Amino acid sequence: MSARREDGGWTVELDGVEGRQSVRARMLVNAAGPWVDTVINGVMGKNGPANVRLVQGSHIVTKKLFDHDRCYFFQNSDGRIFFAIPYEEDFTLIGTTDRDYHGDPKDVRISEEETDYLLKGASEYFRRPVMRDDIVWTYSGVRPLFDDGASAAQEATRDYVLKVEGDAASGAVVNVFGGKLTTSRRLAESVLEKIEEVLGKKGVAWTKDGTLPGGDFGVKSFDAEVRRLGLDYPGFEQRFLKRLMRLYGTRARAILGDARSVADLGQHFGSDLYASEVIYLVEVEWARTAEDVLWRRTKQGLRVGAEDVARLEAYLGSKSRDPHPASP
Ligand SMILES: Cc1cc2nc3c(=O)[nH]c(=O)nc-3n(C[C@H](O)[C@H](O)[C@H](O)COP(=O)(O)OP(=O)(O)OC[C@H]3O[C@@H](n4cnc5c(N)ncnc54)[C@H](O)[C@@H]3O)c2cc1C
Repeated sequence: MSARREDGGWTVELDGVEGRQSVRARMLVNAAGPWVDTVINGVMGKNGPANVRLVQGSHIVTKKLFDHDRCYFFQNSDGRIFFAIPYEEDFTLIGTTDRDYHGDPKDVRISEEETDYLLKGASEYFRRPVMRDDIVWTYSGVRPLFDDGASAAQEATRDYVLKVEGDAASGAVVNVFGGKLTTSRRLAESVLEKIEEVLGKKGVAWTKDGTLPGGDFGVKSFDAEVRRLGLDYPGFEQRFLKRLMRLYGTRARAILGDARSVADLGQHFGSDLYASEVIYLVEVEWARTAEDVLWRRTKQGLRVGAEDVARLEAYLGSKSRDPHPASP
């Protein structure tokens, strides 16, 4: 909500699940993605120029357009490339676009023009034209690209830039501009180096060989891990186990516990979504709403109906009144 320099450090006002609270900090990391400038100017009360250029990227999802697990990269006539990727087993993902964006990032939606652009581009390559009726879902994001003065949206740098302001005596902040999922670990290590420069500590970088949560198996062992899960959980469909493995890795076992079939996984919310997975998402991945579960965490929104959504919302409402949900 706000961050102010006071008495040789920061006083930060937070508003979250536990309500409003005030905390003190020696240093802040501003990793607010497309809102990085909003935090600098709004939350920290500065009055500086924009550091990032917001560039919208939109995608369309269609029913499966091809029956194999490879991706296509197409050279579009405007010089950009775009892709068609197998998506969530039964769908194809086509993206993306690049255009400057000026609103609040939370309101970003695909435009008619972007939809036409993606349909036209894909239709040049697929045997059968890709039509509006083929679209089952769309989504858009906003890239916060460091503003290096490039003229066209697609020419702005995709590299991240870190800037430290202030010092240990008065309160410092590391502002993170830009970034990619593929470089997120390198970025995180670079941020820690900046923190160490200010606070004077020196740790050893360890993430090179560290795995992400649930990723503690060999990079080529995914299929073997799914088979092993199948041997330990013979009462479940392979497709379901593969989905859990893809989303949660070895942590799929935390969701399945000692269940022997889906009947042991608690309330059903359509598709193959059961209460055990929802509870895991609430407790471990901080899901709060049906949208968090269905779209941000699982993409099961592609498969469930309106009644399922309503039941899930009611279920999550009852869980949020119980701070320690223990069982499905
Ligand atoms: C269309 C598109 C395509 C992309 N393609 C690729 C790709 O192919 N490969 C790749 O590697 N990367 C890609 N990226 C980039 C990648 O998605 C981002 O780099 C990554 O998600 C950024 O993560 P982040 O944590 O920095 O920011 P975000 O995920 O945006 O997180 C910022 C967080 O800050 C929070 N926040 C904002 N204001 C406040 C506040 N006042 N207080 C507390 N919290 C606040 C927000 O709620 C949000 O959760 C793409 C991005 C887009 C938009």
